[in-house]
Amino acid sequence: MAKPLPSRFNPDLMARDGTRYSATVPLVQFKRFVPILASLEGDVHATAVFSRRKDHIVVSGELAAGVSVQCQRCLDVFVLPIESRYELVFVDSEAAARALPDDFDPVITDDKGHIHVVDLLEDELILQVPLVTRHPDGQCVAAQRSFGDIAPQEAEPGKDKKQRPFDVLKNLNLH
Ligand SMILES: [Zn+2]
Repeated sequence: MAKPLPSRFNPDLMARDGTRYSATVPLVQFKRFVPILASLEGDVHATAVFSRRKDHIVVSGELAAGVSVQCQRCLDVFVLPIESRYELVFVDSEAAARALPDDFDPVITDDKGHIHVVDLLEDELILQVPLVTRHPDGQCVAAQRSFGDIAPQEAEPGKDKKQRPFDVLKNLNLH
């Protein structure tokens, strides 16, 4: 049984028992995420388990959502399923975030040591949507019409597969 995760909470308290939490958050609450979507309707479902690792509090869990995005090839809107596992380390400042080893993804608590569930999940959600959204292979009308001109322009293979939240924000700011 998962307990409902409060919208704002203290990770330090959550880490004292091994409780599994769940949260359902309307998409519209993710103010930085929704500008890249074609519709604000829907919810994000997440689970969260808090634990201690050395000096840090870690939250890990899964998030799932179906978000409406526009296919950049045929311009139709389609639902992109998001299912991802995340693991984040709580820190209390930007400086502490920078001091973390590279394989730790930080999330920064406020001056009271609290965090809002939206702030916990928003960067993870943004990372799950490709910068260029397209229908999956074989499901795009435009691709069927002009088969052959779909040269992939993805990043070079093996090169920094996981984007950092900051890189995504940088790109969003260009629009
Ligand atoms: Zn398409």
